[in-house]
Amino acid sequence: MEGLVIARSGHRTEVLVRELGTVLLGVPRGKILKAGERIYAGDQVEVKLVDKETVAIETIKERRNLIPQPPIANAERLVIVMSWRQPPFSNKVLDGLLAQAEFFDIQPVVVLNKSDRMRRRDERNLRYWLDIYEGIGYRPLLTSAVTGCGLDRLEEAIRGYLAVFAGPSGTGKSSLLNLLIPGARLKTGEVSEKLERGRHVTTEVRLLPNPKGGWVADTPGFQKVDLPRWVATETLPYLFKEFRDYRCEYNNCLHRSEPNCGVRQALEEGRIARSRYESYLFWLQESLKQDEEV
Ligand code: GDP
Ligand code: ZN
Repeated sequence: MEGLVIARSGHRTEVLVRELGTVLLGVPRGKILKAGERIYAGDQVEVKLVDKETVAIETIKERRNLIPQPPIANAERLVIVMSWRQPPFSNKVLDGLLAQAEFFDIQPVVVLNKSDRMRRRDERNLRYWLDIYEGIGYRPLLTSAVTGCGLDRLEEAIRGYLAVFAGPSGTGKSSLLNLLIPGARLKTGEVSEKLERGRHVTTEVRLLPNPKGGWVADTPGFQKVDLPRWVATETLPYLFKEFRDYRCEYNNCLHRSEPNCGVRQALEEGRIARSRYESYLFWLQESLKQDEEV
């Protein structure tokens, strides 16, 4: 029988057994343990019934991806929640998180939350950013957990998929999750600095059934940009999606001062947004710093 691992903590694995439509305790078979394989929420597994409450996990199907924080396999949508104010919108952070989504091969859904706090005078500024991201093919959704505005489109973007919420602390991830998933009851706005740090090492993740179809992880992840930790410097240029359209003289061009750089030429011609290029240089610098340290 086939199953989906919907919860995973230190010593407990819960498997939704599709054929039975029930959630049972999963116990990995010896050969999985022997191979040193780990099981993650989101894993597709093959199971055999042991008793009324337990299945043996025989094999883990090949994963399409695996994200580390929170540990989840096979995520299909990364909902990157940024806010307009409190915390203020940061395109550097957004670009870093987008690059992370590309690295882990998860389709990002960009959300600009707290739209209720946008004012008339913000309009031009907002339009400026929307144009940039729409131009690359990331279509930001404006939402508000207070007025409910834009929730229908967010719901549509994650319906039928395994979605993970990401983004800096305080942008409204838990508030949005609670609205989308009845019974989610995530704590909002009261995460202390200490707890915040603790959350990064959490290994407890539960996939909540989305009433409209699909699943949503109950633990938001990627609160920070950790690119330099995961990504080799030479990979970074490929994670800025629109850069891939341009060819450079050198195969491993870092798009700084190399001759005949297609990316820099596109920048000069206005086909690549300056803000994106500057974010790229920023994360490149961080990555090079990391290289020096190790
Ligand atoms: P998280 O850290 O990303 O999970 O953010 P929370 O969901 O805990 O929200 C942080 C704070 O922002 C809380 O005080 C929320 O009530 C508030 N908040 C969340 N969404 C919105 C929104 O759309 N508009 C406004 N004005 N406040 C919001
Ligand atoms: Zn180049």
